[in-house]
Amino acid sequence: MSKEKVKLVYSRDEMLKLNKDTLWERGKVTIEDIAQIAYQQQSKYYKDVPYAMCLESVEKILTYRDIFHHIQFAAEVDRLAEEKLFKGPIQDILYYDLGLFGIDETIGLDIARNYGAIGQTNFGDIDVNKHGVVARLNEEGKKEGTVHTMLDDIVGAIAAAASTRVAQVMNENLALENPTYRKVSIFDLEGEVKDK
Ligand code: MG
Repeated sequence: MSKEKVKLVYSRDEMLKLNKDTLWERGKVTIEDIAQIAYQQQSKYYKDVPYAMCLESVEKILTYRDIFHHIQFAAEVDRLAEEKLFKGPIQDILYYDLGLFGIDETIGLDIARNYGAIGQTNFGDIDVNKHGVVARLNEEGKKEGTVHTMLDDIVGAIAAAASTRVAQVMNENLALENPTYRKVSIFDLEGEVKDK
């Protein structure tokens, strides 16, 4: 097939669907599982975190192109390792999830980095304390025939990103409650420039 005819770009709706399917196929992970982690994490800091906001945040993050590439790549690495298709030392390192192998965390951090320092510390918390579905994936990955070396970090990172987005939206809402707060958009600034 000529290169021009190969589909390389996907719409946000397509990426959301493909990501959801991949998370389910690789580890029976749902967006609700991920939203639950974000909800629990943010409930430590805020009262009445809307669960719907956590769910909406996970869905939004799953539509981003760079996240799509991370998820699709990581899921394939796990599948190939599970089917013992890698050659050389990396096959066993991935298959047995060597503790000192850090590329899974690097990929997770790369996702979390989009949400700043708080995104990264939220990822660290989920990675170390194994919240919710991350604990299940980690346990399943220890069984013969199942590789979740990449998936647990990917899921943890999406949860951390969603959790951080929820914190940002909650803060924005808090700021809007302040009567002295004036929301400025680019159009307001254009007006101000013209007036001068
Ligand atoms: Mg891992």
